[in-house]
Amino acid sequence: MSISDKPIYDQTMAELSKGLAAGDFSSVELTMALLDRIEEKDGALNAVLTVTRDEALAAAAAADAARASGDAGPLAGLPILHKDIFCTRGVRTSCGSKMLDNFIPPYDATVVERLAAAGAVMLGKTNMDEFAMGSSNETSFYGDVMNPWDLERSPGGSSGGSSASVAARFAPVATGTDTGGSIRQPAALTGTVGIKPTYGRVSRYGMIAFASSLDQAGVIARSVEDAALVLGAMAGFDERDSTSIDQPVPDYVAELDTPLDGVRVGIVRQHFDAGLDAGTGDQVRAALKTLEDRGATLVDVDLPNLDQSVPTYYVVAPAECSSNLSRFDGIRFGYRAENPEDLLDLYCRTRGEGFGAEVKRRILTGTYVLSAGYYDAYYLKAQQVRQLIADDFRKVFADVDVIAGPTAPTPAFKLGEKTDDPVTMYLNDIYTIGANLAGLPAMSVPCGFAEDLPVGLHLVAPHFAEGALMAVGHQYQLETDWHTRCSEDYR
Ligand code: GLN
Repeated sequence: MSISDKPIYDQTMAELSKGLAAGDFSSVELTMALLDRIEEKDGALNAVLTVTRDEALAAAAAADAARASGDAGPLAGLPILHKDIFCTRGVRTSCGSKMLDNFIPPYDATVVERLAAAGAVMLGKTNMDEFAMGSSNETSFYGDVMNPWDLERSPGGSSGGSSASVAARFAPVATGTDTGGSIRQPAALTGTVGIKPTYGRVSRYGMIAFASSLDQAGVIARSVEDAALVLGAMAGFDERDSTSIDQPVPDYVAELDTPLDGVRVGIVRQHFDAGLDAGTGDQVRAALKTLEDRGATLVDVDLPNLDQSVPTYYVVAPAECSSNLSRFDGIRFGYRAENPEDLLDLYCRTRGEGFGAEVKRRILTGTYVLSAGYYDAYYLKAQQVRQLIADDFRKVFADVDVIAGPTAPTPAFKLGEKTDDPVTMYLNDIYTIGANLAGLPAMSVPCGFAEDLPVGLHLVAPHFAEGALMAVGHQYQLETDWHTRCSEDYR
């Protein structure tokens, strides 16, 4: 008898792992089923940019063989999709940009390497906002990604291809990156789980840089248990990333059993002010009540400088991006303009033709705030405010174990609705950006629906407390079934 009576594509990694161990199906069968599903259903979503069918089937066959000989890794034969920001050896890594449309990396990112070493099977690479700059997946060179809950709406960004893929049951788990909310926001908008760990917890080696002091890799999944399983396999020290932290990785799955009794949950009053959609607020308040009913204590807390987080981020992130993206010069790799007249013409036209509008806006803003006359007024000031925001969190975490609130101000918005006004788009990340500025681990967990669209509960924890953070999310999922809901068309 099969371990689970759910269709194979609807099973979590933990369930699939049991099915593989019990011999209900092989990894080759599982891989084939999901590859076929992507082929059949992604036309309407545009979530997957590259399907690596041959590589996936070979990896699945190797995992089946490893299992048969008794030396299978912890993720042996389990399927995963990678955001197209992670370098994959021999497989195009576009970062959602025309600039890297022809880029085939000669090496794997550490995240990709570690998950492969654990036995995971990469099915392909997911669509994303260009260079991870965006909140809606509308800045991708390869076109918008559609939200499986409503094809006219955004799946969030920048990891929108990953969130849409997990929500549509193309894979139980996909990787993402989060500089200001790009894992948690798309998770909230698609009814999936998204975790961004502590800055330095996961190696950034081979992850194409946007804003290096903020970028962090993480996981989008359907259950917190799966997120814990995969995060455990990708985290840990890497000498190839100078900001990677040399601390042992705890057993995140074991920590999930920690009960909510006595857990102090901080509620930031400003999070429920004007600007929060009413239906979203109701669902989040109900989720807080659930945590309380299971033994948590709710405590009002204050983050006085939080309203400065979006303006601070939009100085720091563009500054770092203007520096990081200077490497795309048409000479070493990526797109190159045709028939340049001279070197300057090569640089100008390569970058003019290779980058999209949002990336150019960030490079211009960043170059401006770093320029000699404005550095002190903008960049230096933003770094000072960043410290104040980090201090606010540090003070709050003296009194509480986690902070909870909404992940996004509204459910999924219509594609095109915010594209004419960059500032409105930037405000989507109002609840998530603080965790990046302070380097804290944070997560979004599905907590209900507003007007038939998913809503996310946002949880933030102190540095390196991702185990405790995921325990709260897991305990919540033991009590609720929002994370098992699937849009009608993808059941
Ligand atoms: N939406 C934010 C931005 O556009 C965050 C993106 C991200 O986290 N990569 O910069």
